[in-house]
Amino acid sequence: MHYYKIPVFVPELACPFRCVYCNQYDISGVSDVPEAGEVEGLINKHLSTMPDNNCHVEVAFFGGNFTGINIIKQQEYLSVARKFVKAGKIDGIRVSTRPDYINDEILKNLKIYDVTAIEIGAQSMDDGVLLAAGRGHTSLDVKNAAGMIIKNNFELGIQMMTGLPGDTVEKAIDTAKRIVELKADTTRIYPALVLKNSSLAAMYRDNIYTPQTLEEAVALCAEIFILFEKVGVKVLRMGLHPSESFYDGESLLAGPFHPAFGELVMSKVWNKRIAANIKQNIGEELKIYVNPTQLNQAIGHKSSNKKHFSKSFDKVKYFADRSLKKDQFHVDYR
Ligand code: SF4
Repeated sequence: MHYYKIPVFVPELACPFRCVYCNQYDISGVSDVPEAGEVEGLINKHLSTMPDNNCHVEVAFFGGNFTGINIIKQQEYLSVARKFVKAGKIDGIRVSTRPDYINDEILKNLKIYDVTAIEIGAQSMDDGVLLAAGRGHTSLDVKNAAGMIIKNNFELGIQMMTGLPGDTVEKAIDTAKRIVELKADTTRIYPALVLKNSSLAAMYRDNIYTPQTLEEAVALCAEIFILFEKVGVKVLRMGLHPSESFYDGESLLAGPFHPAFGELVMSKVWNKRIAANIKQNIGEELKIYVNPTQLNQAIGHKSSNKKHFSKSFDKVKYFADRSLKKDQFHVDYR
């Protein structure tokens, strides 16, 4: 089964706040809010590139604060997506929104329009970090929203960030643990980036804020990924989707951005998995067997893991083994 998400960005349409890191237009690369009519064309365009069988497709309304939009506008968007659900062309509808924009009435409306999953941006479960980030909500809002979403039988996603002002490794790991306690089905992990025209940009210029290095962000996200993986919280994404303006220096001022951030993290995760399972008998040949789809991650970005283990073994060889399921591996020596 292949899983697809058709993203519809609704940038900053209904945000009463201005988070310090936010510059929605630059994040999504979309400066115009789409009309409901345009959404139909967008969905059809994406569907035309997907196989007819063996796939699970969702339309995902991302961006500012979907449930903060005027209810008529929400219904216009959702009725377009629902048409595709009713026609059997897509399997579900996701929306992302703020935790303080969830209540019984809002959830009732989403249910009517066949929304299947709600992702709330928690970003942190530390109230000091939320305050410093200008989020305008507390960790209690996240807890309450999560409870209501679960009670109303939606899939629950809780997004988090790392490297926000005042955040630490310990606070970020604690946030991940709280997301697990709140019984999230899915999560996304976004290291904070310094974008032009954001408050964080001013803080960065005034030396009040120092972003994570790429190395720090990768190491922390790998630790958090393993924590989520152990309890079955699915990590849908790590690192922001790059907009073209990130590459020409137009919008990204600083921070741990990498176009293959998720791959870097998965390399690190595989490094930790393998390291925890090998005997450090320097001088032997190390053989690592993994599912073919994960061979590249196991070898590591630019062979980083192979190079790492080559410090302890004369030879390090990787083998694709179809009998192993995803995430399974075994090691052997000679
Ligand atoms: S909630 Fe914050 S990050 Fe999201 S759109 Fe609003 S201001 Fe931007």
